Amino acid sequence: MGGSLYLLIFIITIFIGVAIFIARTNHSKDHYADIETDEWDCPDCGFHVQAGDKCIYCGAKKELAA
Ligand SMILES: [Zn+2]
Repeated sequence: MGGSLYLLIFIITIFIGVAIFIARTNHSKDHYADIETDEWDCPDCGFHVQAGDKCIYCGAKKELAA
Protein backbone atom coordinates (compact mmCIF):
# COMPACT_ATOMS: atom_id res chain seq x y z
CA MET A 1 0.00 0.00 0.00
CA GLY A 2 2.95 2.34 0.65
CA GLY A 3 3.98 2.31 -3.01
CA SER A 4 0.53 3.38 -4.27
CA LEU A 5 0.51 6.32 -1.83
CA TYR A 6 3.74 7.68 -3.34
CA LEU A 7 2.27 7.16 -6.82
CA LEU A 8 -0.86 9.16 -5.82
CA ILE A 9 1.28 12.05 -4.49
CA PHE A 10 3.34 11.96 -7.71
CA ILE A 11 0.17 12.20 -9.88
CA ILE A 12 -1.25 15.09 -7.76
CA THR A 13 2.07 16.96 -8.10
CA ILE A 14 1.89 16.62 -11.91
CA PHE A 15 -1.73 17.89 -11.92
CA ILE A 16 -0.76 20.98 -9.87
CA GLY A 17 2.19 21.64 -12.21
CA VAL A 18 -0.07 21.46 -15.30
CA ALA A 19 -2.69 23.74 -13.65
CA ILE A 20 -0.04 26.39 -12.87
CA PHE A 21 1.30 26.17 -16.45
CA ILE A 22 -2.21 26.64 -17.96
CA ALA A 23 -3.02 29.54 -15.57
CA ARG A 24 0.24 31.28 -16.46
CA THR A 25 -0.39 30.85 -20.23
CA ASN A 26 -3.94 32.28 -19.97
CA HIS A 27 -2.70 35.24 -17.89
CA SER A 28 -0.07 36.22 -20.47
CA LYS A 29 -2.70 36.06 -23.27
CA ASP A 30 -5.07 38.35 -21.32
CA HIS A 31 -2.25 40.81 -20.63
CA TYR A 32 -1.41 40.93 -24.35
CA ALA A 33 -5.08 41.51 -25.27
CA ASP A 34 -5.32 44.40 -22.78
CA ILE A 35 -2.41 46.19 -24.49
CA GLU A 36 -3.94 45.76 -27.95
CA THR A 37 -7.49 46.93 -27.15
CA ASP A 38 -6.81 49.69 -24.60
CA GLU A 39 -8.39 53.03 -25.61
CA TRP A 40 -6.81 56.37 -24.64
CA ASP A 41 -6.95 60.08 -25.52
CA CYS A 42 -3.85 61.69 -27.03
CA PRO A 43 -2.53 64.42 -24.67
CA ASP A 44 -1.08 66.40 -27.61
CA CYS A 45 -3.99 66.62 -30.08
CA GLY A 46 -6.91 65.07 -28.15
CA PHE A 47 -7.46 62.32 -30.73
CA HIS A 48 -9.21 59.23 -29.30
CA VAL A 49 -6.90 56.28 -30.08
CA GLN A 50 -8.79 52.98 -30.08
CA ALA A 51 -5.85 50.55 -30.53
CA GLY A 52 -2.09 50.52 -30.13
CA ASP A 53 0.24 52.74 -28.07
CA LYS A 54 0.85 55.44 -30.71
CA CYS A 55 -1.45 58.26 -31.89
CA ILE A 56 -2.30 57.73 -35.57
CA TYR A 57 -3.18 61.45 -35.96
CA CYS A 58 -0.02 63.21 -34.69
CA GLY A 59 2.32 60.26 -33.95
CA ALA A 60 2.67 60.94 -30.21
CA LYS A 61 3.34 57.91 -28.01
CA LYS A 62 1.02 56.90 -25.18
CA GLU A 63 2.25 57.86 -21.71
CA LEU A 64 3.06 54.58 -19.96
CA ALA A 65 3.02 56.09 -16.47
CA ALA A 66 -0.59 56.03 -15.31
ZN1 LIG B 1 -2.22 62.86 -31.16
